[in-house]
Amino acid sequence: MDGGSGRSGPVYNPATGRQTGAVDFAAVEEVDAAVRAARDAYPAWRETSLAKRAELFFRIRELLHARREEVAEILVREHGKVFSDALGEVTRGLEVVEHCCGLPTLLKGEHSEQASTGIDVYSIRQPLGVVAGITPFNFPAMVPMWMWAPGIACGNCFVLKPSEKDPSASLWVAELLREAGLPDGVFNVIMGDKVAVDALLEHPGIAAISFVGSTPIARYVYEKATVSGKRCQALGGAKNHMIVLPDADVDAAADAAVSAGYGSAGERCMAVSVVVAVGDVGDRLVAAIGERIPKVKVGDGMDPASEMGPLVTREHRERVASYVENAPAEGATVVVDGREGVPEEGFFLNPSLLDGVTPQMKAYADEIFGPVLGVTRVDTYEEAVRLVNESPYGNGVAIFTRDGGAARRFQFDVQAGMVGINVPIPVPVAYYSFGGWKSSLFGDRHVYGPEAIDFYTRGKVVTQRWPDPATSRVDLGFPQTR
Ligand code: NAD
Repeated sequence: MDGGSGRSGPVYNPATGRQTGAVDFAAVEEVDAAVRAARDAYPAWRETSLAKRAELFFRIRELLHARREEVAEILVREHGKVFSDALGEVTRGLEVVEHCCGLPTLLKGEHSEQASTGIDVYSIRQPLGVVAGITPFNFPAMVPMWMWAPGIACGNCFVLKPSEKDPSASLWVAELLREAGLPDGVFNVIMGDKVAVDALLEHPGIAAISFVGSTPIARYVYEKATVSGKRCQALGGAKNHMIVLPDADVDAAADAAVSAGYGSAGERCMAVSVVVAVGDVGDRLVAAIGERIPKVKVGDGMDPASEMGPLVTREHRERVASYVENAPAEGATVVVDGREGVPEEGFFLNPSLLDGVTPQMKAYADEIFGPVLGVTRVDTYEEAVRLVNESPYGNGVAIFTRDGGAARRFQFDVQAGMVGINVPIPVPVAYYSFGGWKSSLFGDRHVYGPEAIDFYTRGKVVTQRWPDPATSRVDLGFPQTR
């Protein structure tokens, strides 16, 4: 549907730098129309049996799996990530859909027979109504799947507002859900910017908001949504540390740092952006990372040889490059300068490596969200953990060591929601939940997995008596357990 706001935004192919389309932004009235469509579809969807909903989810899974290359190509053309990475994104999202195929089990309540004499107590979980998701540019397929799959499986109707930078994957998914047989109005997509987001946050017909994006907007969304009485989970930005202890396998740690630092051009909320080298491992580690960087193949994501694509927009590329430019003035050493040797066309930046990065520098404190890896050197394990725990973010963190005791202590000490032990990007499997601590998440429920089932449902406890004619009598006292 064309937007009625008269405003629109450009969509680019980041590999060529050329505009390939434009997306019309919704006006407040169009947001309202989407919420009304969802509200109208809700009574019938809520009544649809768990068996039918599960069957539909199996169909959605099959279709998505069969056509995953189509959507992966859309991701490459609008986001810029390489095709294999785009397929990986779709596959991780599919795992959430697969988890939702088990919704009859996930929605099971509990039952206590004879909780009191002649009384049974049981719990049920019911959907909230119309719920909305607001998503970032960096995972245009997977992050929406984290939300719409459990939201719809639980019996809610869904309104999605994807990033305006790469909107096409969401429209593709809407078509696929229709083809799978999802009734009209259960899943709705609106395009837009702040106007559409604010309209969702203020809309009295929306019961819950899931948000993923940068920390300032996550905080804003959480505050505004909760003030208007909505349930809200708002996932924000990150600055993920990878600690390398002196006993670590340096080659394995360097492989992990390069993969997790430069994969998807660093545009991942679970990307490693600071490598903390403890003790005497620093020189060996910087050398090993430096050796690997020239071998990373940067190019158009549709070229099967490419391992890293461009950044999403020219502005973002310039912002990321500015951290490399300012690093010497801040006191860091530029070991590899990714601004060199980039193609004229497109929003490319090669991998950069900074050494001697300290917490006082912007290159350390800011979420750069690009292919810039900083190395911070500390003397002890305690200093390394203190760095992580003093960070305002707490999304992912990793430790590389051969010492099981140190790793176990780290898991106990560290303040972050997702911890990797010799695993650089510890994104939980779909039957656990995903989410950070501190400024990486506002709200108290993580996304997908068991916490999503909690988030998208309300609990109800029923206390039931079917009087036994033999024991029935009048009793004006306060009900007590007997
Ligand atoms: P963003 O915060 O700019 O945008 C996210 C969404 O908010 C988009 O849909 C956008 O249209 C909307 N938005 C933007 N400005 C707004 C405003 N002023 N008012 C209301 N809505 C607004 O984030 P982005 O640049 O699209 O994505 C990158 C960010 O997302 C990074 O900070 C990254 O760490 C974060 N992220 C976090 C996770 C996580 O799980 N914690 C996952 C992916 C991305």
